[in-house]
Amino acid sequence: MITHGCQMNEYDSHLVESQLVALGAEMVRSVDEADFVLVNTCAVRGKPVDKVKSVFGDLRKLKHSKGLMLGMMGCLAQLEEGQQIAKKYEVDVLLGPGALLDIGRALEGNGKFWNLAFKDDINSFIAPPPQGRLSAMLTIQRGCDHHCTYCIVPQTRGPQVSRDPDDILKELEGIVAAGSLEVNLLGQNVNSYGLDRAGFPSFAELLRRVGRSGIPRVKFTTSHPMDFTDEIIDVIAQTANVCKYIHLPVQSGSDRVLKRMGREYTAQWYLERIERMRSVMPEVFITTDLIVGFAGETESDFQQTLELYDAVGYDQAYMYLYSARPGTPSYAHFDDLPKEVKVERLQRLIERQKHWSQLKNTALVGKEFEVLMRGPAYEPSFMEGHSSGHHTVLLPAGQAPIAGIYKAKITHATPHMLFGEVTQTVRQVSFAPMQPFSPVTSSASMG
Ligand code: SF4
Repeated sequence: MITHGCQMNEYDSHLVESQLVALGAEMVRSVDEADFVLVNTCAVRGKPVDKVKSVFGDLRKLKHSKGLMLGMMGCLAQLEEGQQIAKKYEVDVLLGPGALLDIGRALEGNGKFWNLAFKDDINSFIAPPPQGRLSAMLTIQRGCDHHCTYCIVPQTRGPQVSRDPDDILKELEGIVAAGSLEVNLLGQNVNSYGLDRAGFPSFAELLRRVGRSGIPRVKFTTSHPMDFTDEIIDVIAQTANVCKYIHLPVQSGSDRVLKRMGREYTAQWYLERIERMRSVMPEVFITTDLIVGFAGETESDFQQTLELYDAVGYDQAYMYLYSARPGTPSYAHFDDLPKEVKVERLQRLIERQKHWSQLKNTALVGKEFEVLMRGPAYEPSFMEGHSSGHHTVLLPAGQAPIAGIYKAKITHATPHMLFGEVTQTVRQVSFAPMQPFSPVTSSASMG
């Protein structure tokens, strides 16, 4: 299995891998050992689509030389664009994000099997707990009922479907029993959880119930500002094991651009949400997503984004160049900006972000908090982990020799990293964790 894209894809890959293993397949780490390779794809920007083409270019050669069977799943598979790629590169199995549990049927015939249906079975399927994962993922809803004009997701993943809360809590029980110390609740818009189903709890109530599971840490991603209610903010503040960390995508600081993007809020409204969060949780860590150079964005619009950035003072931000995706309203109706304009603005925003991250991280020096340590860092004298605020933290390897949760005092900060000293061992795990923070890249070999 080769996984591209977001955490929801990583979760879906785990789900399909678990099906393959149940059918007797053996997962192997290299394409050379495999007789079936399934690529989980992303379609939100042009770059991942180009990447998929290049991967399938290589795989097609192997198909011809050693009879490899090829599969494509995920967001790109759902689109006409992806199906054209699948035809060109002779893909045998194509599964849309709603048809993943058909993997067994797909492999029964050894022939061509394409399914793009949005089926219900995927939402009630309780994924077996991932083994050896310190931080586990749990999808609570799929699809989206918002209509941001730049976004392809409502087409690739369909309208919102919330999973049954009993299924979510049952899956969580398995995660806790498997020894994971953190769960990340996933969805296109986790905070609109339940709005599509009468009788389902709200996201705030679900979060409360997840908090009661006893898992040491709860995080969630991603959220739409319009659905971030006061009740959700209060539950985060009142529930000890819910991390005081909120990722709240703003995308732009200009009301004119936000309107063109179909984001449904104004910059002022967004700032008031942040104010409310900080009024009840002064210590909350806030990160965001920003699209730079959206179609029609003027220099004055971009200045408003910089102003909003300063007004919030984000701990960290994920910044992207606007990538016009065929099939989206913004692609059809607005003209793209020249690439050099977008790149130059992105550079300025990155500089602003570095300034704020350095400022925010330096303010943590001398403070003490809990860090989830996963294993050796790139530099072997350190162990690497992350804080409840999602900072990357390095601790001396001798002080945190086993994966787990440690209390640490921060001694040094850079814009992208914190360094510290262990002050207390809170909890260690008895297993050697798999690489928990990056997408899995592996291949499946049918036994
Ligand atoms: S909220 Fe907007 S950006 Fe997010 S998935 Fe829905 S349509 Fe896409």
